[in-house]
Amino acid sequence: IKKIGVLTSGGDAPGMNAAIRGVVRAALSEGLEVCGVYDGYLGLYEDRMANLDRYSVSDMINRGGTFLGSARFPEFREEHVRAVAIENMKKRGIDALVVIGGDGSYMGAKRLTEMGFPCIGLPGTIDNDVAGTDYTIGYFTALETVVEAIDRLRDTSSSHQRISIVEVMGRYCGDLTLAAAIAGGCEFIVLPEIPYTREELVGEIKAGIAKGKKHAIVAITEHICDIDDLAKYIEAETKRETRATVLGHIQRGGAPVAYDRILASRMGAYSIELLLKGYGGRCVGIQNEKMVHHDIIDAIENMKRPFKGDWLDTAKKLY
Ligand code: ATP
Repeated sequence: IKKIGVLTSGGDAPGMNAAIRGVVRAALSEGLEVCGVYDGYLGLYEDRMANLDRYSVSDMINRGGTFLGSARFPEFREEHVRAVAIENMKKRGIDALVVIGGDGSYMGAKRLTEMGFPCIGLPGTIDNDVAGTDYTIGYFTALETVVEAIDRLRDTSSSHQRISIVEVMGRYCGDLTLAAAIAGGCEFIVLPEIPYTREELVGEIKAGIAKGKKHAIVAITEHICDIDDLAKYIEAETKRETRATVLGHIQRGGAPVAYDRILASRMGAYSIELLLKGYGGRCVGIQNEKMVHHDIIDAIENMKRPFKGDWLDTAKKLY
């Protein structure tokens, strides 16, 4: 291969810029040319790309978001749309593509590989919900952001003896909520992996109040319930003022923490190693601190990370 493309796709995550930089600098050091694709698969289809040199990624390692932009483009599931994308890359002399994103983006990369165009996927999402890796790029930064927010909520809820509910991102993965809850000292944790009833939750909160707790913080993953309704229910049942806070897109922003920068740099460089060895249709991961790669479909279907039940058990002992 002589020239590679790189794009970011799906939800943005802090560290995506560091990953692009890793890909670009590693490729250049191997004598390859690099083309950046704007707005994910949409830009690939619309032929919006530009060559990148080492200075294109200067001052990027510490910047949140993705300077290439990201997009959702469901039409990419259609083969004729992907055929246009491949044609656009071939016209520019691009022979391989690095895709930075989540599971959905991985599927796009796999489909392109099946059509004869080699792609490597890097896990970029704050949700930590990508198979075949212990951690995703952006997760550790989002964790710091959520913990800081919980600390702030703690100050005000303890001053007012209030119950606070904080909704954390993660889609259908409770990793971010669980880790943030432990680090933020949250008393009550509601996760997508564990069935929950609001009656049980209120029972736990009441037990806490009976023990003399002056305030409480409930950490809950998004998409589980309407947290304003939950707040009203808890307030009615406990007679304690209860407020709901949705952290929302705040969690996606900010300068990446050091670990995300290191992860992104290592994974970016590793993707170039794999492409030079002739691999395609693979996704990069970190497992037990080592760089690994797996078949994308095999990872998505068979390598879901087990739920950290022991973390939850620990958290529950500490309240
Ligand atoms: P996040 O986890 O942050 O949401 P993601 O990569 O999982 O990231 P998706 O919206 O699921 O986000 O996927 C991103 C893009 O990947 C889609 O908009 C689409 O362009 C492409 N894509 C998703 N699934 C497929 C598929 N089965 N075949 C081809 N392309 C796909």
